[in-house]
Amino acid sequence: MAEICQSMLEDALSYGRAFTKEGKTAQYIPYLRQVDRDLLGVCAETLDGRRFSAGDTRVPFTVQSIAKVVALSLALQDRGERYLFSGRVGLEPTGDPFNSIIRLETDRKPYNPFINAGAIAVVGTIKGHSGADKFRRLLEHFKKLCGSETIALCQEAYLSERETGDKNRALAYHLKATKMLEGDAREVLDAYFRMCSLYVTAEDIAHLGAVLANRGVDPGTGERLMEANHARIIRTLMLTCGMYDGSGQFAVKVGYPAKSGVGGGIVATLVDRMGIGVFGPALDPRGNSAAGIAVLEYLSQAMDIRLF
Ligand code: GLN
Repeated sequence: MAEICQSMLEDALSYGRAFTKEGKTAQYIPYLRQVDRDLLGVCAETLDGRRFSAGDTRVPFTVQSIAKVVALSLALQDRGERYLFSGRVGLEPTGDPFNSIIRLETDRKPYNPFINAGAIAVVGTIKGHSGADKFRRLLEHFKKLCGSETIALCQEAYLSERETGDKNRALAYHLKATKMLEGDAREVLDAYFRMCSLYVTAEDIAHLGAVLANRGVDPGTGERLMEANHARIIRTLMLTCGMYDGSGQFAVKVGYPAKSGVGGGIVATLVDRMGIGVFGPALDPRGNSAAGIAVLEYLSQAMDIRLF
């Protein structure tokens, strides 16, 4: 296995650049439509404390579905594995788009925590008296997992999500109607829209990946931020469901756990080695960063780190 180094990251970035032209920014959220699709950055944080950055790693972007990782971690901490997975959400990939509603009618329980329906159900289980309270706790957990005090809401993205979030409302009310959602649907949705609209950087999510890689312990401070077993569950789900209906292809091409968001971010985690954060807002048809996948594929080959 080759060691990660600055020049390897820069080569990965140049390789990835060609792919920004192959994608488009997310069109269904007006705020995301106007983001510059040529941005690209990659950051790797190793567990022994080294950090390499290339490109636009300090440009803030909305975290979108990567927030589902943080929500799942908090829900596991609040309610435990048995409660969550026996009653509220499954552990299986769907092969459907991330916002699909089709299986809810036949199966009731959302297939996994990384599709929208599953994430909404997970947010419902997070402790809090109101949506605002749940969000406050989510934000605190977010800051810890990303090792950054500056993570905050992007108000414009939040308003944009809320205004155009009818599909998510449909999912939440369907879950409510079938008794699969805890709490008030409007409050849960508000916490969900807010968590998706948090501003992060590639460096922030690289740290999140490093905490997961370090089995739940912050590699910088030594503080335990989640149980080792919860980190293992999350890494496993990232591998099987983290890239939605592109997860199988990604596992073959890249071969390690990752979670994408329609803001263009991807967090990847290499157990006992490092976390990687990529940001490239041009998306492939499945809603995953086109250039981000190319960068991760390059690194995977350069370091020879595919799990299988
Ligand atoms: N906020 C987005 C949505 O709910 C998150 C989806 C994603 O990143 N895939 O549609």
